[in-house]
Amino acid sequence: MCGFIGIFGPEGSHVAGEIYEGLLAVQHRGQDAAGITTFTDAFHVKKGRGLVIEVFNERNMARLQGNLGVGHVRYPTVGAGDDEDAQPFHHTYPIGVSMAHNGNVTNFAELNDHLSNTRPNSSCDLEVILWVLQDALSERLRASAGAHLDADDVFHAVTQVYEKVKGAYSVVATIADHGLLAFRDPFGIKPICFGERTNAEGTSYACASESVVLDVNGYDRTLDIGPGEAVFVDQDRIIHRRSLGDQPHRPCIFEWVYFARPDSFLDDVSVYKTRRRFGQALARQWKESGSPIPDVVVPIPDSARDAALAMALELDVPYREGLVKNRYIGRTFIMPNQASRQSSIRRKMNPIKLELEGKNVLLVDDSIVRGNTSRRIVKMVREAGALSVCFAVTSPPLVAPCPYGIDMASKTEFIADNRSVEDIANSLGVDRLLYLDRDAMNEAARVGNTAIEAFCNACFTGDYPTGDISIERLQYIEEERHSHGDKAPTFG
Ligand code: AMP
Repeated sequence: MCGFIGIFGPEGSHVAGEIYEGLLAVQHRGQDAAGITTFTDAFHVKKGRGLVIEVFNERNMARLQGNLGVGHVRYPTVGAGDDEDAQPFHHTYPIGVSMAHNGNVTNFAELNDHLSNTRPNSSCDLEVILWVLQDALSERLRASAGAHLDADDVFHAVTQVYEKVKGAYSVVATIADHGLLAFRDPFGIKPICFGERTNAEGTSYACASESVVLDVNGYDRTLDIGPGEAVFVDQDRIIHRRSLGDQPHRPCIFEWVYFARPDSFLDDVSVYKTRRRFGQALARQWKESGSPIPDVVVPIPDSARDAALAMALELDVPYREGLVKNRYIGRTFIMPNQASRQSSIRRKMNPIKLELEGKNVLLVDDSIVRGNTSRRIVKMVREAGALSVCFAVTSPPLVAPCPYGIDMASKTEFIADNRSVEDIANSLGVDRLLYLDRDAMNEAARVGNTAIEAFCNACFTGDYPTGDISIERLQYIEEERHSHGDKAPTFG
């Protein structure tokens, strides 16, 4: 899961500052590397490992001149996650293209072999998207004897990407002297929105992986780009929109469960409101199951807060902050190996004893992956004096690896792999464990936009919407994970 932003500002403006602000707003989508590329009569690039505030400074920002630019924060999933894998990538010949993405190319290995004579050697799957697009644009350029490319040429090139590149990806690209391009994978698994802003300087266009990026820069969210759809803002600032596919829309439900910021809208569905509906649905399930009403509902910070508050209200039970998270140590999941992950969980959270002691506590979290975090927290809450500890989760059991760019776990690492809910409860040391029903989860999001027929639920079912996920592909992901410690290879 990565975050990106692309901006086409008014003539004479410089967009790097806004891109920087946008990247700060999606830092939660990736803390591994960050980069910005802008364009004047040449590309200007700064990228590196680390957080946005670590990579950029006044000096390198001053170099990033121009009114057309792309920025990216990386969350590693496939590829060694080396410096050369940091995005955006760009090519200068025969036409300049700079690109960033969020997602994962599932036929990366095949395409990579096919392109290996021509491409530089990064291990990032964005490179194959860039090559396919660039090849198709170059062909059109040759056919027109070097004349300007128009929207049809650009959309033709995107069609080539859809034909050749499988997987889930949302992409932003700047095409030198031509404009800003954004497109979304045929099933629309990865989110991407587009916005406009008009002020004294003129009109600017932006696209981003989450609407919060547009908010912080004062853009109106004009549209969510659809599945298999491309949007191109040309040099004359005309917006061209074209639907180039006919696959069903299957946005990733895990964005609403865990990834996205609550203040974002994805496909017109508020993340915050969806999480509240998750909490309400969980409370209904809790009551229907006849489980004892707890004394207190405690969220596991941060992503479970909105749901926990809604659940507490629905159960008519006090909501209390019983766990305090240290925000300055990063997400433990992203640590390079299991040992550092386990120890950092202890550093990550501290209980507020007076909210837990002598109480029947109901903890609420968004998901259980391997179960390590939950087990540690349950132990901590018991040690703080809780009478009983129950656990409610705002998603169903995770059982299948995600080949679309969410670094979770390989199949056998999931605590729910081949285990009953009772077994999982025992393994976590909880008195009772309740997972949100899958239909209820989907419905809670769908209420926000009933035009979405269904969501990608692959991590809960193993049913992959792109239809091309073989056992070999899953084994490849698993091998890649193990060959890089237990940090998976990086896709954006
Ligand atoms: P675990 O200890 O493996 O069960 O991790 C569960 C915790 O990780 C939950 O609190 C989630 O909020 C969080 N989480 C879920 N999915 C991911 C992910 N793909 N990357 C990082 N953290 C995650």
